[in-house]
Amino acid sequence: MIIKEIIQIGNPILSRPSKFVAKIGAEETQRVITNLADSVRHHDLIGMAASQIGEKLKIFVTEVRKTKYRNLPTDKLRVYINPEIVWSSKKQVVIYEGCGSVAYAKLFAPVRRPEKITIEANDENGNKFRLDASGMLSRVIQHEYDHLNGIEFTEKITDMRKIMSSEEYKKMVGLKT
Ligand SMILES: [Zn+2]
Repeated sequence: MIIKEIIQIGNPILSRPSKFVAKIGAEETQRVITNLADSVRHHDLIGMAASQIGEKLKIFVTEVRKTKYRNLPTDKLRVYINPEIVWSSKKQVVIYEGCGSVAYAKLFAPVRRPEKITIEANDENGNKFRLDASGMLSRVIQHEYDHLNGIEFTEKITDMRKIMSSEEYKKMVGLKT
């Protein structure tokens, strides 16, 4: 298990688009997937993109579960390789987001995005899948998908006056600080 320090906003690695993964079964690709799965848990996050650990590949993971920032329903660990969001709902919702690459998830802010999406991707075994997502899973998928295009959530903050620290965010969602 290799846990990597999360690359922070301002580092040009985060703002460059990621590359298509040609060989999913390759040892190198599998190493990145393992590092992502280990790192997302170690840092107590619910999603992480390869660029955040310095790998410019179209890979991200999600694991919507209970963390120090949230106490809501859970989802299994999912791996998305060469993903494509093929449908987004017209309806949009504003939800607070944080990011391991923005002051180590110490800053939260409201972002507007489609409520539901459909994504197509390959899993860690190279099998293609299609997933309809809503709620927090939809939200984290869209956030991580943006990372593959070099976009950070701070570019999409809907109201700068509503930015808050992680401590205030946890109070807002009813978690003990
Ligand atoms: Zn992020």
